[in-house]
Amino acid sequence: MRLHVLCTRHTQAVLKKKCVMKVVTQLYHSDKSSTVAVYSHKRVICVNLLSSRAIQKVDMFGSVVVGIGTAGFVRIRDMLAPLPSSAAEKLSVKGFISRRTLEEQQGVKQITIEDALRRDDIKVAFVCTENAVHEENIRTFLEAGKHVCVEYPMAMTYKTAVDLWDLAQEKGVVLHEEHIELLTADFKQLKKDIAGKKLEEGSLHFTGGPLKPGFGFPAFSGIARLTWLVDLFGELSVTTASMEEDQENKYMKMTTQLMTKEQKPLTWIEERGPGLPRVKNINFRFDSCTMTQLPPAAREPVGLFMQDLVLFSQKLLGQVPRDQLHAERHRVLHCLELADRIQQLSQQGQGSAQDA
Ligand code: NAD
Repeated sequence: MRLHVLCTRHTQAVLKKKCVMKVVTQLYHSDKSSTVAVYSHKRVICVNLLSSRAIQKVDMFGSVVVGIGTAGFVRIRDMLAPLPSSAAEKLSVKGFISRRTLEEQQGVKQITIEDALRRDDIKVAFVCTENAVHEENIRTFLEAGKHVCVEYPMAMTYKTAVDLWDLAQEKGVVLHEEHIELLTADFKQLKKDIAGKKLEEGSLHFTGGPLKPGFGFPAFSGIARLTWLVDLFGELSVTTASMEEDQENKYMKMTTQLMTKEQKPLTWIEERGPGLPRVKNINFRFDSCTMTQLPPAAREPVGLFMQDLVLFSQKLLGQVPRDQLHAERHRVLHCLELADRIQQLSQQGQGSAQDA
């Protein structure tokens, strides 16, 4: 572990005298006692520092959370108690940003966006706002050279997502889109169960309550379902798409016909309205069997957002192989491109892809 010990001249002199400036293998600090124990050459030397703030771990990623809703709350919670011995321990939450003026959240203070952009100790932004403002937040933080973790979907058009990814590359920072739906125990089990089977046709019908404003067209707000289909069956194309909407009663139903590369049809339905249960109904017909229910799977000990936090931190530390990063970017952009196409077709008066 590389550490910098910033301290008073007197303490520096003590450290130098005891020859510990070169090899510092472990360092503990306690906010209350401001005592630092430096382990070096198997000897323990205790040094009193004036303040624990005098210690800075240079390899930590100071972070800010933008948007304090469900996802933002969980991000703060997870950074305050990261999975022990995981890459997520390298993140430390420095503040949050909200359009509202709020009290401390879980002991974390509100800061302004200007502050977050200016501060050198803030290297990472978690964008947890409604989907409609993801783009402007991501762009602002990327421009300032900060890494960004955004809750899905990254943007509301495919072209915007490509631009943002190019910007991240130009700035040499990580842009990560969270996909907790791929980390659920039932999805992992489903993927195992269908391995080696040949799809003949299938459907995924999602139902749920009405969405709050700012979450966008259902092909984007429901990108998690599309991501499931692409992750299970490979690249897809859009055949037809249509949308029924009754705004007064907060009801909508989007129906999409997709096709696999092997020309097998898949239907994806997003249906939302008051009282509809949050459920995913599947019907996958394979050459050997038909699946109509998600397989039972035991809950995993590590939460979904925590698993995603670990993955993002590994990316920050350069621990994720290049081909995995490439495949992920490819999948994310492919799904957003499909979502774009579905939206176009639905809004064009329900034409088919061949007619367009
Ligand atoms: P939410 O409505 O609970 O929270 C959104 C929050 O962002 C609100 O508090 C809102 O005031 C705030 N906000 C909006 N614009 C802002 C801005 N410009 N500056 C600061 N704050 C702003 O929604 P949520 O469920 O937390 O969803 C947030 C994002 O997370 C969405 O993109 C969603 O798709 C994604 N997501 C959520 C979950 C989940 O389980 N809740 C799961 C996966 C992905």
